[in-house]
Amino acid sequence: PTLLAHGTPAQRDRFLPAVARGEEIWCQGYSEPGAGSDLAAVRTTAVRDPGDPTGAYRVTGQKIWTSHAHEADWCFVLARTEPGSHRHRGLSFLLVPMDQPDGRIEVRPIRQLTGTSEFNEVFFDGARAHPGHLVGGEGNGWRVAMDLLAAERGVSTLAQQIGFEEELGEVVRQWARTPSAARDPLLRDRLVRQWAELRTMRWNALRTLGGSDPAAPSVAKLLWGGWHQRLGELAMAVRGAAGTVGPEEWSEQRPYRLDALQRMFLFSRADTVYGGSDEIQRTIIAERVLGLPREARGQ
Ligand SMILES: Cc1cc2nc3c(=O)[nH]c(=O)nc-3n(C[C@H](O)[C@H](O)[C@H](O)COP(=O)(O)OP(=O)(O)OC[C@H]3O[C@@H](n4cnc5c(N)ncnc54)[C@H](O)[C@@H]3O)c2cc1C
Repeated sequence: PTLLAHGTPAQRDRFLPAVARGEEIWCQGYSEPGAGSDLAAVRTTAVRDPGDPTGAYRVTGQKIWTSHAHEADWCFVLARTEPGSHRHRGLSFLLVPMDQPDGRIEVRPIRQLTGTSEFNEVFFDGARAHPGHLVGGEGNGWRVAMDLLAAERGVSTLAQQIGFEEELGEVVRQWARTPSAARDPLLRDRLVRQWAELRTMRWNALRTLGGSDPAAPSVAKLLWGGWHQRLGELAMAVRGAAGTVGPEEWSEQRPYRLDALQRMFLFSRADTVYGGSDEIQRTIIAERVLGLPREARGQ
């Protein structure tokens, strides 16, 4: 959606077919150790290299929590192209290839609660980005980055909801196979509620398609983050005590052997954080929908 909205025809031609065919994997280089909810505090820099024949950018800095960086072909990086610029001014949105000569990009996996490592620390040390891969023009990165987040929180979740539907189906199957759970009217009530809320989320995500309601993506994010977390809790409630035990014997070599529902439960702890935390979404809704006074932000 971001390249459709802000990309040049050449960028769309180069990147979108491979995205549609699932041939190139992307990761998101936004968060930094000092810039999470407060994304405008980004410190990674991208400066034009006068010695480079194409005038390429050199990207230097550290990103963190970068999902799938270890397997990605490209990273979209929010970086400061105007030295000394402040907050959201002077930022640019650059498409950076992950395959670079040794040492220019280092990816260090971070081990998660699930025992797996979906996200990483990423260190850029003069990584090269072609000037033709700047999206939205120099200094306009904030606008591009915000539009991307709106898509991530809203319309992109339409695809994610197919996965939610499958997970809910698996929880229902578990419930039907577990006699003590199947007899429990409270669990039945929670299952029906999850089912109904999933329908509501779908209609809400469809509302974001037009892109005219600035708060709709934040409402969508609040809905699906909490919904998925509750689904994880429900899956464990259906399992009962068996949910605390792994499907296979524990061993030193494979300490975390979890089945799909246990993994879902543990991973869903992060649903109210990534893509912008619940607190941040509530602030956006308070300011843009309810018209409450703006929060004082860092200078
Ligand atoms: C599983 C996972 C995958 C991720 N993948 C990516 C990725 O691919 N790329 C990427 O760039 N980032 C990624 N992130 C990072 C994610 O975007 C950040 O974790 C998130 O924006 C919160 O930032 P933070 O972790 O720095 O927490 P902080 O911003 O330090 O927030 C800590 C707590 O304080 C609260 N808080 C902060 N500021 C305010 C405020 N003004 N008002 C009220 N409460 C506030 C937050 O809500 C939160 O509860 C991922 C995170 C997770 C958990």
